[in-house]
Amino acid sequence: MMNEIVGLCKRRGFIFQSSEIYGGINGFFDYGPLGVELRKNIKDAWWQDMVQRREDIVGLDSAIIQHPQVWKSSGHLDGFSDPMVDCKASKLRYRADQLFYGKVIVAGEVIGYVSVLEDATMQDQADKAAKKLKKKVGAEGDLSPVELVVYTKADPSEYVLIPSPATGEAGSLTPPREFNLMFKTQVFPMTNASDNAYLRPETAQGIFINFKNVTDSSRVKLPFGIAQIGKAFRNEITPRNFIFRSREFEQMEMEYFIPPGDDVWPKYHKEWIEWCRNWLISIGLRADLIGEDVHGEGDLAHYSKACTDLTFHFPFGEQELWGIAVRGNYDLTKHQEGSGKSLEYFDEAQKEKYIPHVIEPAVGVDRILLATLVSAFAEDEINGEKRSLLKFHPRIAPYKVAVLPLVKNKEELMSKAREVFEYLSKRYHCFFDAAGAVGRRYRRMDEIGTPYCVTIDFDTIEKDQKVTLRDRDSATQVRLSLDELYKTLDEKLNF
Ligand code: ATP
Repeated sequence: MMNEIVGLCKRRGFIFQSSEIYGGINGFFDYGPLGVELRKNIKDAWWQDMVQRREDIVGLDSAIIQHPQVWKSSGHLDGFSDPMVDCKASKLRYRADQLFYGKVIVAGEVIGYVSVLEDATMQDQADKAAKKLKKKVGAEGDLSPVELVVYTKADPSEYVLIPSPATGEAGSLTPPREFNLMFKTQVFPMTNASDNAYLRPETAQGIFINFKNVTDSSRVKLPFGIAQIGKAFRNEITPRNFIFRSREFEQMEMEYFIPPGDDVWPKYHKEWIEWCRNWLISIGLRADLIGEDVHGEGDLAHYSKACTDLTFHFPFGEQELWGIAVRGNYDLTKHQEGSGKSLEYFDEAQKEKYIPHVIEPAVGVDRILLATLVSAFAEDEINGEKRSLLKFHPRIAPYKVAVLPLVKNKEELMSKAREVFEYLSKRYHCFFDAAGAVGRRYRRMDEIGTPYCVTIDFDTIEKDQKVTLRDRDSATQVRLSLDELYKTLDEKLNF
C-alpha cells in the first residue's frame, strides 16, 4: 500500500522527493500543487479549532533561529541526540536503537550472530538469517529461536562479532556514539566557533521563551495555551518511511499552562488526549487505525510526569503520531535560570506567584498528512469499472468542487459552467475541467479526492437550468437548481 501511495503522490502532484532533478536529497520533500493545498487545509483546520474557536488559546509565530543559549537552557545542546552506528565497509549509518542483533545458537552452542533493522517482520528475518547461517557453516542439531537485543545494549566485545546489515559481514560496525540532531549554522557576527546557532529542532521552545511577552501583552489567564505552527529541523540519522521521518518537517504544538500541583494536571492531560483523538477523527483519520501508547515510568524524560502518544497504524507499523506530554514546569524554570529573567506568573485568584506547569500536545503536520492519505486511500468498482480514490474529508480535500461542462464546443454551456465556477471559487477551492469524457473526468477527481463534481449539460441550458451534483464516495448524482446547489454545498462545506 505504501508504494501505491508514494506513486500516487508523485503522479498526481502531492509530494516529490526534494531536489529530484539533482538526484534527490534524503530526508527532504517538496509538496506539489495538491500537496500544498492538503497541507494548508490541515494546518488551517488545526488553527481554527485550536486557536480561533477557543477563548483560552492564543497563537504565536517565533523565529526558526534563536539565541544559542535557548538550546543550552532547554537541554537540547547536551541531550538532543540519538545513538548512531557506522558501517565502515559500506559507509552506511544506522540508528543504534533501531539495529537489533542476536546470537545464532545450534544445539546449545553459539555459531555466530545475525542483525536486522527494526520493523514489524524483524523476528522473522532474524530467524531466516539464522537458518541460512546454520546451513552455511554446516552445523548439526536444533536451532534455537533468535533472541533479538538492541545494539545499544551489546557488550563492547560483541561489536566486532555482529554483522553489518549492509554487507552481512562482521567487523565493520563501530560502537554506538551519540549524535546531536540539531542542524548547525552561523550567524554573523558570531565568529567564535563555539557560538553556533541552530535551526530549531522543535517549535515548543519558541513558545516558552515568549511566555512573558504573551502574558504581559495579552489578557490571558491561567489555564491558557499558546499555539504555534512552524518548521522544525532534525538531522535524523535514518530518515525513512516517506514523509513519516524527515529532516525538515512542520510541527503544530500547543503549550497549555496550568497551575502547579499533582492533583491539577491529570484532568487536563486526559482532556487533551481526548481532544486530539477527536480532532484527528474529525478531519478524516480512520478511528480504527488510531491507537494509544501510554509511556511507562522508564520511558519518561526525568522532568516529565506523564506522556501519552496517540499512535497510527501506518502500513509500515504502528507509530507515534501525536505526543501529549505533561512537562511540569521544567522548560520555564530552565529558561528562567538561563536568562536570569523571572518567568513567574501571578495568580490573581490565589494571590500567589508561581511558575506554571504545562501540558504539551505536539504533532507533526507531515505525519498527519500521511495518516490522512492512508485513511483516504481506497479502490472500488462502480458499474463494473475499477477506480482508485482518495476519500478525503471535505474539510481537508485539496479541491472541494470540480465544475465540468459536458462538452467544450458549445458556447452557451461553457459560459454557464464558467458562471458556476466563478461563483463557487470565490468560496471554495474549485477545479474547472472541460477535457475528455465526463466519466474520465469524474475518475480523475476521485483519484485526487475532490468530494463533489458539478456537471453542466444540455438540459441545463435547454430545459431546466438544473445541474448535476455528484458525490465522490457513493458516486450518486442529484439534479439541483443553482440556488439549491449553492445552498447544499454551503451546508456540506462549512466547517
Ligand atoms: P520520534 O520518537 O518519532 O522521533 P519524538 O518523540 O522525538 O518523535 P517529538 O519531539 O515529541 O517527537 O515531536 C513531536 C511530534 O513531531 C511527533 O509526534 C511527530 O509527529 C513530529 N515529528 C518528530 N520528528 C519528526 C520527523 N523527523 N519527521 C516528521 N515528523 C516528526
